[in-house]
Amino acid sequence: MPSKARILDGNSESEIDECVEMLRAGSVIGIPTETVYGLAAIATNSSAINLVFTIKERPTSHPLILHIADVSMLDDWATNISSEARALCKKFWPGPLTLILHKSDKVLTEVTGGRDTVAIRCPNHSVTTKLLKKLNDAVVAPSANKFGKVSPTTAKHVVNDLGSDISIVLDGGDCSIGLESTIIDCTTTPPQLLRTGAITAEQILRECNITVVSASGESRAPGMLEKHYAPVCRVVLVSSSQEGLIEAQRYVADGFKVRLLDLTEDLDMFARLLYSSLRTADKDGINVAIVVRAPMKGIGFAINERLEKAANSFLK
Ligand code: AMP
Ligand code: MG
Repeated sequence: MPSKARILDGNSESEIDECVEMLRAGSVIGIPTETVYGLAAIATNSSAINLVFTIKERPTSHPLILHIADVSMLDDWATNISSEARALCKKFWPGPLTLILHKSDKVLTEVTGGRDTVAIRCPNHSVTTKLLKKLNDAVVAPSANKFGKVSPTTAKHVVNDLGSDISIVLDGGDCSIGLESTIIDCTTTPPQLLRTGAITAEQILRECNITVVSASGESRAPGMLEKHYAPVCRVVLVSSSQEGLIEAQRYVADGFKVRLLDLTEDLDMFARLLYSSLRTADKDGINVAIVVRAPMKGIGFAINERLEKAANSFLK
């Protein structure tokens, strides 16, 4: 289906006003954040939220993250907020950190898939902050791609993926981080790390003196699947460029079109370019992307978590 989406840069007040009106009317739009582009719907309208699930083809049991303009809106959406959660918001918001909290009565069932907890974050992007402030409400904003696929990190990616389903994408430039937010469950003691991201457990300990443990027992993060972030091409992980070259030769000999990706020199750049590199590989008709794993430090944990899932997606 042809794209019907207009790209707006959000620099003029009238463009932001137009987006606010669209959201208030129950439409969904693409919005920029520092992590990945989101598919936004106003959080107080059930049918708008249902539209997000329909467009993404996402199971309704996978709860959505609420995005708020600033920390002053937090108590509208959450109750019984722990002192650890307050400290994390103070330190890392606006920023790539999502907190799981006890939900307030205002949170609609559709947002949480019926759970009594809610995921909330305050994104750090000037265009989206302006939008959220004018809207004076929260939005849900999962990544603006079809369920299970590679997340978008440019407005163009959103148009390519969902241009026939939405009419506006706000263009805020390339995402500065490029990977989804860290998710911490603050309803448990100690808090649990449900998804890795740019903000690490080590950084939280260092900067807030809060110990965050890995999620244990049954997965506490519904929608955390073994297979995710999947390009069309097969993703093969290796530990070094040298090993990558050997693998590449093997696949080339079998007649595959291969690309070797080693971005390990600069981990922030690796995170920023990972999804667009996988998308470019698909566009170029690559069959096998051989990717050198990140070292296990800083954002490297989050990069590898995404890569493992992308690689698993090919395994039947
Ligand atoms: P995203 O797919 O980036 O929109 O992130 C949504 C993810 O956040 C879900 O798939 C869950 O893993 C997690 N999440 C959202 N709400 C909750 C919740 N109430 N409890 C636990 N995890 C949640
Ligand atoms: Mg996603």
